[in-house]
Amino acid sequence: MKIHEYQGKEILRKFGVTVPRGIACDSVDEAVAAAEKLGGPVWVVKAQIHAGGRGKGGGVKVAKSIDQVRQYAGEIMGMQLITHQTGATGQKVRHLLIAEGADIKKELYVSMVTDRVSQRVVLMASSEGGMDIEEVAEKHPELIHQIAIDPAVGLTDAEASAIATKIGVPQESLADACAQLQGLYEAYWETDASLAEINPLILTGDGRVIALDAKFNFDANALYRHPEIVAYRDLDEEDPAEVEASRFDLAYISLDGNIGCLVNGAGLAMATMDTIKLFGGEPANFLDVGGGATAEKVTEAFKIMLKNPGLKAILVNIFGGIMKCDVIAEGVIVASKAVSLKVPLVVRMKGTNEDIGKKMLADSGLPIIAADTMGDAARQVVAAANGK
Ligand code: GDP
Ligand code: MN
Repeated sequence: MKIHEYQGKEILRKFGVTVPRGIACDSVDEAVAAAEKLGGPVWVVKAQIHAGGRGKGGGVKVAKSIDQVRQYAGEIMGMQLITHQTGATGQKVRHLLIAEGADIKKELYVSMVTDRVSQRVVLMASSEGGMDIEEVAEKHPELIHQIAIDPAVGLTDAEASAIATKIGVPQESLADACAQLQGLYEAYWETDASLAEINPLILTGDGRVIALDAKFNFDANALYRHPEIVAYRDLDEEDPAEVEASRFDLAYISLDGNIGCLVNGAGLAMATMDTIKLFGGEPANFLDVGGGATAEKVTEAFKIMLKNPGLKAILVNIFGGIMKCDVIAEGVIVASKAVSLKVPLVVRMKGTNEDIGKKMLADSGLPIIAADTMGDAARQVVAAANGK
């Protein structure tokens, strides 16, 4: 789950990281009132969307007067902000952050992620803050420093200080920088984040260290123990199909391809997508209907997939274990009729009551393409998506 910058800064502040004073707003008038409350002489007007690269896209502007705050807030609020992370259609700006201006001497990059290889939280840092870290990683990998943190000890003063020195923090600001890094680590650890990034972390003219941006992702599997994080959820920023699917307890992720997939079990769902790709197709989604899929759930899953105007074919791939194939067959038949299915449907089912399920599909009168193996199913659905 992602959150907005202003929310990320609230979390950082709670863990002792220094962030500029700021006020989140939902209108231009609120933005002006916020600027007056904060006091000048410089303010930053920042679009709040769940994507980075806002600065380059015109979603971050420095204002030197209240009139400029009003002007920039008016320009940014409601705009369709396009960044390298939003895709071509961009994201509509519904919230702003008005923050006090900062005296930037140097922009640094710091972040925390979980590294599955070392099985530790890794602190990454670079002297090249403010810009795309992907670009730094590609052109100047030597400028990105990392350290894997021992969970039993946490980020030590010595480690924090060593990495801060490597990214160019001067001696007189080292203690401050260490405190910020340790605060970031605590924030990451305590909230079950999967990413916590400050880009830029700045050095000010008077030697202070401040987080000017905050980006968090959280592990969805840990949200049950963080109601305070769930409260930050902004459904306007999420994929409507995924929000709809979560209402029916379906694990659904939108993808760019044109072949809808309806599968039971996450592993089989991934294998199904791989097989589709192996035969030259592109999945339109990941969908695990779970072990206890009812006819109603299958119908909802079909409806969600069919909302995608680019959908060209659907592959249903079911292993009947606890879930019996005849139950799925019934769901597929009910759903196909309920949504008056217009795209080709390939069904492959294996396992408990397979024969009953197959017979039900054959007798249904629906134009269902039956497949026996994974390869057969994938080949047929790719051909169908290509209009063959
Ligand atoms: P992002 O582009 O979505 O990552 O948004 P950021 O919050 O990182 O802002 C982009 C850039 O705007 C930063 O790298 C800074 O150069 C600049 N910026 C952000 N806040 C301030 C500020 O308070 N004062 C000044 N002068 N520049 C800022
Ligand atoms: Mn940034």
